[in-house]
Amino acid sequence: MSELRFDNQVVVVTGAGGGLGKAYAHFFASRGASVVVNDLGGSHKGEGQSSKAADVVVDEIRAAGGKAVANYDSVENGEGIIETAIKNFGRIDVLLNNAGILRDISFKNMKDEDWDLINRVHTYGAYKCARAAWPHFRKQKYGRVINTASAAGLFGSFGQANYSAAKLGQVGFTETLAKEGAKYNIIANVIAPIAASRMTATVMPPDVLENLKPDWVVPLVAALVHSSNTTESGGIYEVGGGHVAKLRWERAKGALLKTDDSLTPGTIARKWNEVNDFSQPEYPTGPADFMAYLEDGLKMPSAPK
Ligand code: NAD
Repeated sequence: MSELRFDNQVVVVTGAGGGLGKAYAHFFASRGASVVVNDLGGSHKGEGQSSKAADVVVDEIRAAGGKAVANYDSVENGEGIIETAIKNFGRIDVLLNNAGILRDISFKNMKDEDWDLINRVHTYGAYKCARAAWPHFRKQKYGRVINTASAAGLFGSFGQANYSAAKLGQVGFTETLAKEGAKYNIIANVIAPIAASRMTATVMPPDVLENLKPDWVVPLVAALVHSSNTTESGGIYEVGGGHVAKLRWERAKGALLKTDDSLTPGTIARKWNEVNDFSQPEYPTGPADFMAYLEDGLKMPSAPK
């Protein structure tokens, strides 16, 4: 059986010194890609820095006969990371925005510093890397992006208000990149992974972590960023431990109310069952769906008072 190959392609993996990023870097190098192994080398809380994390992975890839180069910038310096790809390999085809840290603390005790650092690394970092790659992608009419969300962003998570906000931000960011990139064969998708790493080591028992190898997240990412994927863009995927599923928005039946004085809190309360009625769901994909819904509604005969 033939395998998905990435020969002559350049893959940038941020936060590739450990966890998921390391697994991506090894995989893509083993499938023929030249890999930029970016890692700031700090703690999982974003303290300190070191070149060691990236260097170890680069050495391992080279020892296995692969092509890789290290970059030690913070993702906040996206230009420097993409420049490493261009200088060393002449191009960039795939960007995996993966670097991340945690600053878990109850909302009551959260400080601006906790909020800002998380948003700098996850939101600003992903933006800076994608922004620096974008002109190359557009020019060559080819680019593949994976951004990394989290179940914490999709559903909320106690003690992670900062991280949740940043992670759901990756979803909207990806949806927009997918739309703006479509014309240039730039495909962008977002994953909410679950995997054993130093991030999850403190919150999950060892026997559970045993079945959550980062390697089980890699194949989905590889399939999405391969050149054979020309249509799946703007998708949200839950992935880990062998489970892979796409997520999407669901809209309840809803209530269409007359926009006059009759639209009061009491009217809403009386229609609450319809507002929450998911028995015949719709799956909206954009604001146009909502407008069409309103227009349809406006054509309807007005409801009795
Ligand atoms: P990890 O801590 O093992 O790896 C993250 C890597 O990013 C580390 O090597 C770290 O040094 C690097 N990094 C941190 N800040 C950086 C910066 N500013 N610039 C460059 N590198 C930086 O964690 P992981 O579990 O492999 O997480 C990878 C991504 O997946 C993160 O975005 C994380 O939020 C996300 N995620 C992971 C899980 C999970 O179950 N492991 C769940 C949801 C989301």
